[in-house]
Amino acid sequence: MKRQLIHEIEERYMEYLRDESKFEGSADSISFPENEEEILKIINEMKKSNTQITIQGGKTGIVGCGVPLRGHILNLSNMNRVKEFEKTELGDYLLKVESGITLLDLKKAINKLKNHEELFWPPDPTESSATIGGIASCGARGISSYLYGDTVKYIEGARVVSSDGTIREIRRGDEVITFYGHEKDLLDLYLGGEGMFGIMTELTLRLLPKPLEIWGISFFFENKNDVFDFIGQLKEEVLNVDGASIAALEYMDRATIDGIQGVKEVMTKLKELPDIDSDISSMVYIEIHGMKEEAVEKIAEALMEMAMSFNSDPDRAWAVSGDTEIEKMRIFRHAAAEASNLFIEKKRLEDSRITKLGTDMSLDKECFGSLISKYEADIEAEGLNASIFGHIAGNHLHVNILPGSYDEYKKGYMLLEKWSEEAAKKDGRIITEHGVGKLKKPMFLKSVPKEYIEELRRLKSIYDPNGMWNPGNMFEN
Ligand SMILES: Cc1cc2nc3c(=O)[nH]c(=O)nc-3n(C[C@H](O)[C@H](O)[C@H](O)COP(=O)(O)OP(=O)(O)OC[C@H]3O[C@@H](n4cnc5c(N)ncnc54)[C@H](O)[C@@H]3O)c2cc1C
Repeated sequence: MKRQLIHEIEERYMEYLRDESKFEGSADSISFPENEEEILKIINEMKKSNTQITIQGGKTGIVGCGVPLRGHILNLSNMNRVKEFEKTELGDYLLKVESGITLLDLKKAINKLKNHEELFWPPDPTESSATIGGIASCGARGISSYLYGDTVKYIEGARVVSSDGTIREIRRGDEVITFYGHEKDLLDLYLGGEGMFGIMTELTLRLLPKPLEIWGISFFFENKNDVFDFIGQLKEEVLNVDGASIAALEYMDRATIDGIQGVKEVMTKLKELPDIDSDISSMVYIEIHGMKEEAVEKIAEALMEMAMSFNSDPDRAWAVSGDTEIEKMRIFRHAAAEASNLFIEKKRLEDSRITKLGTDMSLDKECFGSLISKYEADIEAEGLNASIFGHIAGNHLHVNILPGSYDEYKKGYMLLEKWSEEAAKKDGRIITEHGVGKLKKPMFLKSVPKEYIEELRRLKSIYDPNGMWNPGNMFEN
């Protein structure tokens, strides 16, 4: 019997109407194509009824990017094959994959590659069920972006299906377009484009040799001023030495630690880690990557000394190395986001209007401690609870409001609006790694000039002339 390509939305597909933001949309039909030929058939079918399409990966997004508002959902989870691997003449390692492959399966596939040194793909938003297409489309990056930078650096090409049915291979450097007075690589329109310009069916990823030494240290602080002073000092002093560098610098407040301890029962790997004493106000997780053990050790020693001088007890620090132990530290950090998402999931059962309320702003020029104190004062003034964690570099913090009711949700939303307006005035970035999607759209639209949106519309009309892809992301379309 011929496999049914397009399914009507019925009970068993309800989970495809939401993502991890818990924002819920609506759709008439869904498909899970296995190849480009099937994608083309679906496009043709949808064109007949003028139906818009929302492209979906792993649905782990936290701003509703992949949540449909109407029309058809094209879910790419069945396009998850690993294609070619090559070492170029310049010594670059390139791996071509279908875009629906998950981060977990990508890691497994990279570990199986033979006849060369161990490799890895640097972007790691820690949510292992995220797909590479979703990561590429949101510019998701995760903790080690401190050392490795933005995700775009690790994508060399994409195969794109457009709404007119054409398929195109785009490599970095192939074509330059103008956007808002600047030159932009065409590839970068699709990377970070939140699926607004076409479907990426394949991506060519640039892999790096894996550091031979990866060490992680979690420092615990009783006093908040101490942690802020420690972070201030860390930002001033460059601790990198030849052969090793700091790769991740993460902050977690007490509410975040409590949230993580609260999900130990559902995240079994967390149970292996000890509980954190109640006198601890915050923690800082630092990862060091290097090819030489002595170099990594040198940084670790300098960090230990520095933390000690700010009253962090070295006997209470967690210092680990090796893949298995590092994985536990990363799971701990990942649980910070997981815990706040689970909180929202529970609250949503009480009131379906509640969705995730978290910031993704970076305010490079601010003082880390003053910024946190300001967030905390605003949260307290509104009588709200929140967990604050995130990337110390660029003061890229995720303030997750934990509303107890819809009234608190509304207050939290207003705080997010206020903070993003303030951040825009201070040249901060409102959206750094999660995307705009549907939930951050009002804040995004207020934070950028009208001409910027007009430019996005202009490019959308060129690359998606039928207005088919992802209605409602970024701006009304
Ligand atoms: C617990 C948790 C922790 C997280 N931690 C981080 C973190 O540390 N850092 C971070 O950056 N993010 C983090 N995220 C967010 C999330 O994992 C990312 O946004 C991820 O990139 C989404 O991928 P996805 O496959 O789930 O995409 P989806 O949510 O399904 O879709 C996201 C967007 O990508 C588009 N898209 C998907 N595939 C394609 C394609 N092939 N072609 C064109 N467009 C496509 C969709 O249309 C949509 O606009 C976290 C999420 C969770 C739940």
